[in-house]
Amino acid sequence: MATGEVLSQTTQLAAIDRSAPDAALSSEVHATNASEDQSVGMGAESDDGFDEDDQNSLYEDSLMDEIDPEDLVPGPDTCTPKEAKAYRNRLHQVGAGRFVLETITNGTVTAKKLCSAFGAKPPFWLEGHPDSAYYKFLGLAISRELSKRRRLSEYSTIEDAARLIKESKNIMVITGAGISTSLGIPDFRSKNTGFYSRLREMGYDDPEQVFDITNFDEDPTIFYSLAGDILPDLYNWTPTHQFIRLLQDKNKLLTNYTQNIDNLESHAGIDPEKLVQCHGSWATATCRKCFYKIPGEQIFDKIKQQQVAECPECVRLLAAAKPGMKRKRSSNESAGTKGKKRRQSDSDDDDDGQYDIPQPGIMKPDITFFGEGLPRRFFDRLKEHDKDVTDLLIVIGTSMKVAPVSEIPQFVSPKVPQIYISRDPIRHIDFDVNLLGDCDVVVAELCRLAGWDLKHKMVPEDQKINVQPVDTEDNEQHTWKISTNLSTGKTTDFADIDSAITPGVSELKSGTSSSSLQSIT
Ligand SMILES: [Zn+2]
Repeated sequence: MATGEVLSQTTQLAAIDRSAPDAALSSEVHATNASEDQSVGMGAESDDGFDEDDQNSLYEDSLMDEIDPEDLVPGPDTCTPKEAKAYRNRLHQVGAGRFVLETITNGTVTAKKLCSAFGAKPPFWLEGHPDSAYYKFLGLAISRELSKRRRLSEYSTIEDAARLIKESKNIMVITGAGISTSLGIPDFRSKNTGFYSRLREMGYDDPEQVFDITNFDEDPTIFYSLAGDILPDLYNWTPTHQFIRLLQDKNKLLTNYTQNIDNLESHAGIDPEKLVQCHGSWATATCRKCFYKIPGEQIFDKIKQQQVAECPECVRLLAAAKPGMKRKRSSNESAGTKGKKRRQSDSDDDDDGQYDIPQPGIMKPDITFFGEGLPRRFFDRLKEHDKDVTDLLIVIGTSMKVAPVSEIPQFVSPKVPQIYISRDPIRHIDFDVNLLGDCDVVVAELCRLAGWDLKHKMVPEDQKINVQPVDTEDNEQHTWKISTNLSTGKTTDFADIDSAITPGVSELKSGTSSSSLQSIT
């Protein structure tokens, strides 16, 4: 009985089916507060779903807050980290059916306690109910666990990572704000230094509102008065951008999916064909009325002056239209019959469409705002071009908290090795090799080990690198702290992780499931 109840939940989610990677892979959604993602918004392909099964939705909301088993408060209803690990291993070993039989059906452990093995904190309203009330939630937690890619144990060291980079031919690179911060470009969501936090200091309670497309259309002056602080650098790029360029020069770069909007990839010479700016970029700006596109730089001066940029094409059309209207009237009407007749004439003119624009449209930089969809190219390129040919995935400078980019590691074949490079570790994706530190330093060391020459003015000639092992929950050595003798204090201490990644609510609501990779199927 219990087996069936729990299992009925695990089979409801297509996400667990590894044999059908085209199916949805987004039961696991982690769009909490991306501490280091530069992106301002994320696309909403459809409405947030409370449409089908409200309760399921609420359960999944609870599931989003995955708890690290190490952080669980010990108690009668909580597995120890050791127990949790054993349960997870057993689940992957025998599958959901047998696992549930061995545990719930045989009564060896309660469903409530078992939830903790998968980092799932049951919703508070289940408290006090019989254990069977927890079956549904446990089923979801199990299916989330099963949907996770398991790390490939044959890769674990920085030398392995360098060798993989050297040997691979179609490398997918996912990047985030961390690859640009060495140029002083602010990310949006960092707790103390991000743009959002600055907006909060200025009195904007809900800083994401500045990047809400509805708000922009209602009153673009707010965006234009604040965006000067986040204008991108037009001439520089970092050693990490140079590293991606080097991959391209060596004919190994398949695609760089960047969550950054600073367009530095373009400055570094990444081929536009191989670049997907998942959240748009400053590279272009588009009229909200006539969709006329111009290079983004053309509105930078207006932004610096805190003035709204009008569409030059609308302005041109309006200017061309006005003398035309006058000519028409002066030729058809006597001077004394303006008034009513003029208005009639105006409405007649509206019919040919040319005078439909009483005010010029406002230019909006093509960065993805909240309420806007992701570029179609993101989904097309990932599914049609990259998914089956990628032979290595490298994730750099992002905490992978914003869907659907955060779901890419689950979307490619589980056999493809995955390397993670960032200041801080993340726990919700199991990478094969984790290289923690300043990403400019890490990529320089990877190049040195690969025998490649990473030429960039920010890479010191005689950089000395320390590689130290970092303890992890699974006791398999695959996480390393990479530092230079110079960069003391530059990398975040392992103990500071939780203060660096602070969950927020608004982002969790605005993106996630609605913009998930489900939509590409
Ligand atoms: Zn226009």
